[in-house]
Parts: sequence; structure tokens; C-alpha cells
Amino acid sequence: MTVRIGITGAAGRMGRMLAQAIADSDTPAALTAAIERPESTLLGADMGELLGADPSGVSITADLSAVAEQIDVLIDFTVPESTLVQAAICADRALPMVVGTTGFSDEQARALVATTAGIPFCQASNFAPGVNLTFRLAEAAAKALGHSADIEIVEAHHRHKIDAPSGTALSLGEVVAKALGRDLSQVAVYGREGRTGARDRNTIGFSTIRAGDIVGDHTIIFASEGERLEITHRASSRMAFAGGAVQAACWLVDQPSGCYDMQDVLAGQESKT
Ligand code: NAD
Repeated sequence: MTVRIGITGAAGRMGRMLAQAIADSDTPAALTAAIERPESTLLGADMGELLGADPSGVSITADLSAVAEQIDVLIDFTVPESTLVQAAICADRALPMVVGTTGFSDEQARALVATTAGIPFCQASNFAPGVNLTFRLAEAAAKALGHSADIEIVEAHHRHKIDAPSGTALSLGEVVAKALGRDLSQVAVYGREGRTGARDRNTIGFSTIRAGDIVGDHTIIFASEGERLEITHRASSRMAFAGGAVQAACWLVDQPSGCYDMQDVLAGQESKT
């Protein structure tokens, strides 16, 4: 059965890529609704034409409620304030929801999980399959080396990104902190300047680069006396995230209500093969 997918943030960088990923999907899927903010100048535009292809018959609208009947699952890559509004509509309509938006405050993150408690809900700071493998490699490295190494996370993104450090860098920090029994909120160091003093072995450092059109690079460094292990993931196209999010949406429509992440999606795919 074809999975009918709606996208919020349809005209954004990720929204356009998601529309392309749906068209290219191996699993039968169709874009059946495209939602943008009410002030968008692209309301009414055809999504196919927006991608430079033939008209698709799906025009951009401002109201998810009005098109909710036409979709089986929503994919949201917008801004936190918008995601919370869309989540309430999905919860109200018992509509599965995939969230890729990052930059939530702790309070917003808790509200999102509470709002979506009664629906199938999948959230990931990064939907690229390779990044999700990176999480697993970082966890293994932390367990093997983390107690005797200094851990630093370096991330780079394009100049338009509005949150820092990236959600993926924070997820990497959470993974290694958990593996080492540390509380990230107590040990994270976000950038350094001036007379910082010697490094505390227990801290996890974050460094951020914002420049040009970098799609998304993440490196985690485990450095000790005499050696250094670096695990790096580089995204060269947003299709890595979009393809993963579409894969998650197609998987999520068959799941019971609950809170999932991309690791669950990949584990579900592995168990099918
Ligand atoms: P973008 O600014 O290009 O696109 C965001 C879109 O959301 C815009 O078109 C904007 O008009 C729209 N929007 C804002 N408010 C809205 C509302 N109320 N209703 C509907 N649409 C609304 O940004 P982007 O680069 O596409 O990134 C979007 C988000 O996705 C960011 O938080 C980014 O960090 C995140 N992201 C996540 C992943 C991942 O794999 N999880 C990958 C890339 C980007």
C-alpha cells in the first residue's frame, strides 16, 4: 500500500529534499500534502514545479488540519515552535509523526514527547544511516577508551543553521556521556576562550564551525597521551537525511503508539532482512 506523506516546512532546504526522496523511495510512497508557514510567499505553489519537475497536483498550504485526512504520516523539518503546534494536530488526529527539527529547549523537548505520547512518534537529530552507525561506534569507543581519554566533538554546518551545537553533536555527547556514566549537563563545555586553565579529564568539549554551504560534518575525538582516535561522518548531500526520514515515515505507519528514534528504524529494517 502506498504510504501517503505530508511535509511541514515543505519549501525549506530539507522540505524540498524530502519531496525528492519520497519520489525516489523504494517503498511505495507519495507526497500528498505540503505545508508551509502562513506568511510564506510560496503558498499555492505546486511542489512538483518547485522542484523543477512536472506539476504534481500537490499545492503548498498553511493549514495541516485542513489536509490531515489526506496523509498517513507527517514529516516535520521546521522550527521548534512550529513543530509543537503540528505535534498537537497530529496527536488530535492520531496521525504518526516524524520529527527532524532540532534546537528544542529542554522544556520544548519535554512538551513534544508529552504531546505525542499517544501516537507513533519518531524523532532523530540526524536521520542519515551513517550517523546512526557513528553513534554506535562512538559508544563502543567511549566504553573502551573514554575513561582515559579527553573527548571532544567538532561539528561544521552551513552559514544558515540557526542552532549550535548541532542536535547531532549533542546526541553524540549524550551517547558517550551515558556510556561513561556521566551527566552531559554537568560535563559539557561549549567552546573555550581566554585563560581556561588545564582541561578536566571528565569534561566533553564541543566546538562549532559555521561556514558556506557545509551540509554537516561531525568528528568525535578520543585523545590520550601518545594516540588519538577520531570518528568522522561527513554528509555531502541532504539526501542522506531526507532518505532516512522517509524510510522512518514508511516504517512508523506500521508501529504501535510510542516514542522511537532512527536506531529503532534501522533495527526494524535489519530484522526484516
Ligand atoms: P529551512 O529554514 O531551510 O526550512 C525550514 C522551513 O520550515 C522553512 O521553509 C520555513 O518557512 C518552514 N516553517 C517555519 N515555520 C513553519 C510553520 N509554522 N509551518 C510550516 N512550515 C514552517 O531549514 P532546514 O535546513 O530545512 O532545516 C530545518 C530543521 O531541520 C532545522 O531544525 C535543522 O537543524 C533540522 N535538520 C535536521 C536533520 C536531521 O536529520 N534530523 C537534517 C537536516 C536539518
